Amino acid sequence: MPPRSHSPLTESAFDHHFARHLPGESGPPRQSRQVTAACWSYAPPTPVDSPKLLAWSEPLANALGLAVGNTEKVAELLAGNRLLPGMKPIAACYGGHQFGNWAGQLGDGRAISLGDMLAPDGQRWEFQLKGAGLTPYSRRADGRAVLRSSLREFVCSEAMFHLGVPTTRALALVGTGEPVMRDMFYDGRPEMEPGAIVTRVAPSFVRFGSFEIFAARGDVERLQQLADYVIAHHFPEIDAADPDRYALWFAEVARRTAVLMAHWLRVGFVHGVMNTDNLSILGLTIDYGPFGWLDVFDPEFTPNTTDQGGRYAYAQQPGVAQWNLLRLADALLPLVHRPEVLEPGLDAFGETFESEWRRQALQKIGLEAAENRGEDDLMARLLGILMLTEVDTTLFFRALMTLDPARLPATGLPPELEGCFYTPQILPTAFVSRLRDWLAAYSARLRDEGVSDETRQARMAAANPWIIPRNYVLQEAINAATDGDLSLLQQLLIAIRNPYTAQPEHARFAAKRPEWARQAPGCSALSCSS
Ligand code: AMP
Ligand code: MG
Repeated sequence: MPPRSHSPLTESAFDHHFARHLPGESGPPRQSRQVTAACWSYAPPTPVDSPKLLAWSEPLANALGLAVGNTEKVAELLAGNRLLPGMKPIAACYGGHQFGNWAGQLGDGRAISLGDMLAPDGQRWEFQLKGAGLTPYSRRADGRAVLRSSLREFVCSEAMFHLGVPTTRALALVGTGEPVMRDMFYDGRPEMEPGAIVTRVAPSFVRFGSFEIFAARGDVERLQQLADYVIAHHFPEIDAADPDRYALWFAEVARRTAVLMAHWLRVGFVHGVMNTDNLSILGLTIDYGPFGWLDVFDPEFTPNTTDQGGRYAYAQQPGVAQWNLLRLADALLPLVHRPEVLEPGLDAFGETFESEWRRQALQKIGLEAAENRGEDDLMARLLGILMLTEVDTTLFFRALMTLDPARLPATGLPPELEGCFYTPQILPTAFVSRLRDWLAAYSARLRDEGVSDETRQARMAAANPWIIPRNYVLQEAINAATDGDLSLLQQLLIAIRNPYTAQPEHARFAAKRPEWARQAPGCSALSCSS
């Protein structure tokens, strides 16, 4: 039973703060076009056939003070078939650099923002339906989303939150009852797939590209309006009258983005499409598409088959974030008197990323960031060793946590590590000997520092997830849901809401990638088709 203070979603009070405070336009709502001098366009959702509530986030609903209430009414609302008083459906205008090139106007081509509500803690949360039909920004696409990508976004948003990684949230997953045509591999063989809509929730969905579009068009008035709005409502710690406010704000965006990058590296997340339209101004993980998780430790891994050059590969992400911040800085130039005032922000990115990644990386091996007494080298060496064979990153760090580094067997590796390897029968001798040397050095370091095993394990348990929503597991949940069986999805949600605790009853979701998934569609390779 939800606490009594919780009110049914369909009886909640809504507003649309963003739409009330910023200029918009109400041209033909479903006609693709260039929209100028507006931050948003009126965009009523296109109703669907037979909405069905497939999943609901109880933890998020609780934080919002919401109860699900009547599920049929909720499904209708979150499919876009009806609106509540105070809601105002809009699509936001933004642009972006895609794969390094300016792409012009993009905008919410299928996300429709309904409005926002105040949570009991005073935070304002905007509700957005992803896949709710055509908007002025749909270009040649259909405004819809498929079950496969929607389920992935729902589960991953939930997982990221519980992993402690800043993210937009997802409240609900609704099946539309309408098929959607997708060419999943861009190979000229489109197929019908079930459609679905995710209800995304965040304090704001403003992106780097939201500023770039106005700068590119020379629309300094809108650029300033949007920047002032974002500062006033999302960065209250910055004095809105401070002449240096844009520089201070940019530095804070850079700092948050750096923290986010460190988290992504720590949990092994690869976003897949870090275009500037997919970077949140609040430093949240946003726009889950062809994302993936490291199975094998491989800095060059990307799940996105569209990204042939590996621009957005795992280890490239901090550098790309910095490149994207440069694009944001370019966009903000008209607001600052001298470009140099944005430089401390760029420095803040580098400094924050370095210290934050260092802290988190060391926590992964149970050490604290002391003045460097070789601990950085210890972690760097370990990552280098992991690249010598196919080792599962997530399983390895949890196994390292449970083994006693002071008790190395006479030959070979500690038995705790056995289950981590994808090709255990052919472990390179260089790998075994270097890992043995490393474990000895690690053990010596722990002894020198007087770190008890209890402390070490507690630190490691908080930094190394026991479970992440691996692509092959998501694919299994998608296959079952497509056949009408939601039980796997529900079990998976329970498991990923407690990611740092070993849950033997959910072991199947934490297992290393099975051989069948090595090259399977949706498991190791994803396209942007969603
Ligand atoms: P993404 O890289 O997936 O974040 O999307 C890039 C741009 O394409 C955004 O402007 C999206 O709104 C738009 N887009 C992606 N898929 C669709 C779709 N099915 N219908 C309309 N617009 C879409
Ligand atoms: Mg996007």
